[in-house]
Amino acid sequence: MSKIYNFSAGPAVLPKEVLIQAKEEFLDWHGSGMSVMEMSHRGKEFMSIADKTESDLRELIGIPENFKVLFLHGGASSQFAMVPMNLLRGKQDADYINTGQWSQKAIKEAKKYCTVNIAASSEDADFTYAPNQHEWKLNPGAAYVHYTPNETIGGVEFNWIPDLTHSNHNIPLVADMSSTILSRPLDVTRFGLIYAGAQKNIGPAGLTVVIIREDLMGVTLPGSPTMYDYKFHADNRSMYNTPPTYALYITGLVLAWLKNLGGLTVIERHNATKAKLLYDLLDNSDFYHCPVARTDRSRMNVPFTLKDPALDDEFLKLAESHGLIQLKGHRSVGGMRASIYNAMPVEGIKTLVSFMQEFANKHA
Ligand SMILES: *Cc1c(COP(=O)(O)O)cnc(C)c1O
Repeated sequence: MSKIYNFSAGPAVLPKEVLIQAKEEFLDWHGSGMSVMEMSHRGKEFMSIADKTESDLRELIGIPENFKVLFLHGGASSQFAMVPMNLLRGKQDADYINTGQWSQKAIKEAKKYCTVNIAASSEDADFTYAPNQHEWKLNPGAAYVHYTPNETIGGVEFNWIPDLTHSNHNIPLVADMSSTILSRPLDVTRFGLIYAGAQKNIGPAGLTVVIIREDLMGVTLPGSPTMYDYKFHADNRSMYNTPPTYALYITGLVLAWLKNLGGLTVIERHNATKAKLLYDLLDNSDFYHCPVARTDRSRMNVPFTLKDPALDDEFLKLAESHGLIQLKGHRSVGGMRASIYNAMPVEGIKTLVSFMQEFANKHA
């Protein structure tokens, strides 16, 4: 097999070392005579996997003790409902920052449960920037403020954390970190709740990670399903029903891989280097174009267009023949998108960059 570099936005590339280890342990995990897929989630073998996964996540990010870590089903999309169901706590209003398609989905769902105030939006510039906090119009009566630190489709990333302390209302900050979690160090204390679907930067699809400040749990909207109650999952250590066991196991391997690499400050350096290689090429070319404001460019998802969209198909076909796959942009925006999560090696970026240079030269 020739070398393939997978730029999919999600489910996305996993570290090769992790896949090799999973393969080796597939039939018989640590001499247990079972595949992890066959284990009872309440057995000592799987409990040890789940415990280690949680403690490695806590250690890597530095999650304080007053935050619970939950391993849930339903994807980030379920969180769009679960957040208002649990965090409204008697209030009627929530603030949302609208920076693209994922914020819009969160907003649409939240509107079923509360009055949504769009405190800031980048719609005026086609979602190509992150609105500065000076421009946010926060509602002092809001139950929480929700934003999307990395818009996976638009390629817009906040490289700062909103500061709500000055607002004096102790309003919790909620973040959909699906496509940026674990890509850089993270100060969890600045947040009330963080959630992420695993299939971008954490592990396989099927697992959703929630990090929530303890005091925010315990009051849900009347009629909320048990499965949508954070407190219930926390009290049951995410084992009320069967968790996505195999996805959790692979996640554990990814976290061990990250720890072994040196943790989040090291991976951040790698990610910054990788992103720079690609953005430098885009900025020094009049063949390619990246629409996102320079200060707000994502280190994880890099959207770009070719000067002539008629060349898109040829670009994609030729890229594929060079082992560079899944570069087609989201169906809603067109063009290209290279997702370069933690597990994408720098060699993958270098191969992409030289392919793109060649392609541009050929069509200049
Ligand atoms: C992929 C993604 C989602 C959707 O995740 P699912 O797990 O498929 O529900 C939500 N938000 C962001 C930012 C994403 O990147």
